[in-house]
Amino acid sequence: MVTMLKVILKKKISDRVAKGHPWIYNNEIHAIDPSANAGDIVDVYNTNGNFIGRGYFNPASQIQVRLLTRDIHEVINDEFFYNRILACWVYKQKLGYIENCRLVFGEADGLPSLIIDKFNDYFVLQTMSLGMDLWKDAIVSALNRIFTPKGIYERNDVPVRELEGLEQKKGFLSAPFPTEIIINENGLKFHVDIERGQKTGYFLDQQDNRREIQHIVKGADVLEAFCYTGTFSMHAAHYGAKKVLGLDISEFAVETARRNAALNGLSDKCEFRAVNAFDVLKQWTREEKQWDVVMIDPPAFTKTRANIQKAITGYKEINLRAMKLVKPGGFLVTASCTNLVGPDLFLDIIKMAAKDAKKQIRQVCFRTQAADHPIVWNMDNTNYLKFLIVELT
Ligand code: SAH
Repeated sequence: MVTMLKVILKKKISDRVAKGHPWIYNNEIHAIDPSANAGDIVDVYNTNGNFIGRGYFNPASQIQVRLLTRDIHEVINDEFFYNRILACWVYKQKLGYIENCRLVFGEADGLPSLIIDKFNDYFVLQTMSLGMDLWKDAIVSALNRIFTPKGIYERNDVPVRELEGLEQKKGFLSAPFPTEIIINENGLKFHVDIERGQKTGYFLDQQDNRREIQHIVKGADVLEAFCYTGTFSMHAAHYGAKKVLGLDISEFAVETARRNAALNGLSDKCEFRAVNAFDVLKQWTREEKQWDVVMIDPPAFTKTRANIQKAITGYKEINLRAMKLVKPGGFLVTASCTNLVGPDLFLDIIKMAAKDAKKQIRQVCFRTQAADHPIVWNMDNTNYLKFLIVELT
């Protein structure tokens, strides 16, 4: 029996940890076994000697321990990762996901700092902390045991890894394969570039929300800003929109959006332009242009709480512009992907924008991310996406 390395928490254990959150910050720790090294599995106890949980340690990170289990009998080994990933797959299937899903959504799926997106037979993963990165081989072999992957790829080109002392990198974790794949979603096909696309290549978190526009776009003239590869635009065209115009600053995204339109036989209805949406929307409000439906899904305006006021102003401004572009009786479809702006604050921002735009709001739906990105209560940062459809008069 190996002796476990111990970490003892301070006398007053934080509410967050007590309620089930897996992060333990450096200022919450009373003592650490001096032989614990970065990446080691440690056992966390409170000052009364009660077992709190078992997780991986990184003294270089502000989050010094991320708990993997609260069961003292659960051993952290290759089998642990196999069991956890299998449990994630069983859960996602229960929710109805078969082909594409976020198989593992980090903390919310009991595997802190691990993201795995399943694009049918292809898997894209991110290990965003040192402790998780060390288990990459176990994770890959679990995927190979549970599925028959046509390819596994790591998109670890994410800056947060540097906070953990890890380098940014991307590459194959299986035999090399063509990384431009096609996925099916809601009866449509989409090109996904696993190697060069944003994040893991595709935003699965909006996959359920994309169906929500089905009725409001029939016969409509639709504008989508921040369209990435045109996923919402394509749904609008598919659900019967008359015309769709999609905007994104990235040439690569717009080019892919055009290829997606061609792939679905919708090119005649769809147009995509590579422009700065902030500038263009401002100009078009001045010119008093209007659409039946305007959809916006801007990038996170902030990643830190320090810039929250700037983010609020940014969201308000872009929503105000979008509202002015909606014909009376038309619809605004708006989203925000930062967990720093919670659902209540988001609705307040929309309310402020509507006041300035002199518009009356009737709410059609207010949703969050797709269910394959679970929201765990008491883990605030797992509830991050806001998706709202309103009628404006
Ligand atoms: N709704 C999309 C995801 C949008 S992500 C989907 O479901 O697939 C946000 C997008 O905004 C990115 O594609 C990014 O390239 C784009 N973007 C960022 N800044 C922009 C700007 N100033 N003008 C237009 N697009 C911008």
